[in-house]
Parts: sequence; C-alpha cells; structure tokens
Amino acid sequence: MDYKRPQRTIIVGGGVVGLHLARRLAERGEEVELHESRREVSEGADRASGILSISGLKKIGLDHEDSIVNTLYGAYLVAGSERLRIASGRPMAYVLDRKRLAKSCERAAIKAGARIRLGSRLVKTDLQEMSHDRSNLIIGADGAVSMVASTFGFPAIREYVLTYKAEFRSEEIEETGMVGLYFSRGFAKGLFGWHVPYSSDTVELGLGIDHRARLTSSAAFSYFMKDKASTSVVKTRGRALSSHASMIPLSTRPKTAKGNVALVGDAAGQVKATTGGGIIYGCLCAETLSRTISSGKPLSEYERSWRASYGRDLGFHRLAHSYYSKGNLQRTFRILKVLGMDGFLARYGDMDSPSLILKRFLLRGLA
Ligand SMILES: Cc1cc2nc3c(=O)[nH]c(=O)nc-3n(C[C@H](O)[C@H](O)[C@H](O)COP(=O)(O)OP(=O)(O)OC[C@H]3O[C@@H](n4cnc5c(N)ncnc54)[C@H](O)[C@@H]3O)c2cc1C
Repeated sequence: MDYKRPQRTIIVGGGVVGLHLARRLAERGEEVELHESRREVSEGADRASGILSISGLKKIGLDHEDSIVNTLYGAYLVAGSERLRIASGRPMAYVLDRKRLAKSCERAAIKAGARIRLGSRLVKTDLQEMSHDRSNLIIGADGAVSMVASTFGFPAIREYVLTYKAEFRSEEIEETGMVGLYFSRGFAKGLFGWHVPYSSDTVELGLGIDHRARLTSSAAFSYFMKDKASTSVVKTRGRALSSHASMIPLSTRPKTAKGNVALVGDAAGQVKATTGGGIIYGCLCAETLSRTISSGKPLSEYERSWRASYGRDLGFHRLAHSYYSKGNLQRTFRILKVLGMDGFLARYGDMDSPSLILKRFLLRGLA
C-alpha cells in the first residue's frame, strides 16, 4: 500500500520539546495542533533545572536570552574526599529559568502559526480516535510517563532516576560560576547530588536516585543536605523556598515510531544518562522529526535518522553512567588529575558530545 502524506500533526505535551517541535513544524508550513494538559505551559516547569550548554543552545536555536539567570564556567566533581575541579576561562553553560523558557518557547510556536490548546488532557480514547484518522500524525511529547507510548503499545523505558530538588537562600556559595556534582552510592545511587547557583544568594540543591532504591528521593535529599561534601561548599539558610519531586528517564525507548505515531523528548528517553539533561537532545530530535514530517516520508525515517545522528553519543553517555554508577570515581579522579585531564576537559570538553571529546583527545595525542 502506498504511504499517504498526513495532513495534520497533533502533538501531545507542551514541554520545551513539544513546543519546539510545534514551532519548527509551523515554520515549515505544516498544520500543527498541540495539546497541553496544564493551564499554563510554565506551570510545574520549575520541577526541573535549566543548565544548558552554550554550544548546545546554538545548535537548537531556542529563544533563551530572556531566561538566563546565571552563567557557568565549570564544575566541581566530588566523590568522597576527592574533588576534581574542571573550570574554563570562558562561559560554558547557562542556568535558565525554566518557567520563562517555557513561556518563550510557547510564544515562538504561536508566532510561527502553531495552535496551542492549554488545559487539554488527552486520554487513551481520544488518542485512539485521532489515530484512526490516517490524515493525522500523533506525536507523544508527553514526558517520561508517556500516555501516548502506553496507548499505542511502545516498549517501556527501563532505566529511571527519581529526583528531588529545592531552592534556598544561601549565606555562602564558594563560586557562583561553578556547579557542584556530588557522587555517592549512599544518598545518590544512580545519579548524583548537585548544587546549582542561581545568583550570589540563591542556590538549588537536588539529587537523582535509582528508581529501584529502597530510599525515597526526599529521604535521600535529607541525607544529602547533611553530607559534609555539600555543606563544605554551600551553606544554605532557612527553609526551602520551594521543592519538587520528579523523574528522569536514563535510557532510550527501544522503539519510537510506529505507523502514524512517534515519540520525542523524554517520552522517547532522548536524555544524556550521565547528567539527566534532556533538552538539547530532545530538541535536536524534534528538529529531525520536523524534517521527516515536512518531507512527507514515513515516521520510520525519523527513527532511523535520530538514531544515526545521536544514538552513538547517547550510548556513550550510558556507558559513562554505568561506569560511575559502579562507584569507581575516587580512583578515576586521582588518575585524571595525574594525567592532567582536568585541564584538558576544561579546554576541550563538550557537555553534550562525549564522542567529540574522545576525538579531540585522540587528535591531541597524535599531534
Ligand atoms: C530535577 C530535574 C533536573 C533537570 N535538569 C535538567 C538540566 O539542567 N538540563 C536539561 O537539559 N534537562 C534537565 N532535566 C531534564 C529536562 O527537564 C527534560 O529532559 C525536558 O523537560 C523534557 O522535555 P519534554 O518536553 O520531552 O517533556 P516534559 O517537560 O515532561 O513535558 C511533557 C508535557 O506533556 C504534558 N502532558 C503529559 N501527558 C499529557 C496528556 N495526556 N495530554 C496533554 N498533555 C500531557 C505535561 O503536562 C508536560 O507539560 C531535568 C529534569 C529533572 C526532573
């Protein structure tokens, strides 16, 4: 049977990735309708942090300037008594206000011509009905626990971390241009704890913990708040200004396109497993999806194309994650320091693309 070009794209989910896809499709002249269950796209957007590499932001072209709250030059990686400082003389990443970012993505999508339906939660029967009409494409950009994925029988994402984060006033932050990552098989088995300075007197502390852990993420967070590694760098003051629990997928979904249905962003597990960052790869894959749709090719082409472009780097992130999850980091930090790799990473490191770091490392060796 010949493949018929669908007439309309229905996006389920108005997170950053769904909104970015809506914008790109509308810019390509496609008819696009986005359904978001919340009444505002900014509602709940701050349950996640907003660290994005400057190089990644350039690639995806989000309107992010109004959302910048801090500039980052590097990171402390802390494992037990070992601390690795990777700092660059130039800005590496921004901390973005996630609520403002969501609003600016919404404005860009509307300006491009996308229709956004807020307060519209689609349920299984809506989705099934919409998909029966073959002139519709259904795109699940509906996050880690994707209703679109379960309705159409996509295979499950196997690895998750549960997160907890809170913002505090801070008496003292060692350096406002540096984030801290705290590795521990106790309070943060499965990811790490972090501190992200928003300004000289406000800081976010958070952590991710394996979804199979016996501890809840909020109990793990209380341990983290008392841990010497973090309290020696950040001194918080008073009660949390706000706090949120959430989750992050750490593995890609084995299948992301089927007939006239596809998944993108967290729904597809397009997340860096090392850090849980999902915006850059989610938006890059949204770009790939918008190209496939506007070229009139079947959605299987999207699956082939995003895996060909980004599968290797996402795989490297998985490998690095499984290495550090085994708790080998103290010794690794010592070795990296002896090899001078902290300086190399500060100069040539790329937060998003481990294959690029490897290439630069090999080229430097050859040179
Ligand atoms: C604590 C934490 C910290 C993070 N820090 C970073 C970071 O620093 N940098 C980074 O790049 N990434 C970070 N991430 C990951 C990042 O937030 C996600 O990868 C990104 O938000 C995924 O976007 P999305 O649009 O795919 O999904 P989501 O942001 O989850 O959006 C999905 C949307 O779909 C809507 N929806 C769901 N079901 C339905 C339905 N049935 N009908 C209609 N609407 C529906 C939801 O309301 C939601 O708005 C972090 C995540 C967490 C939890």
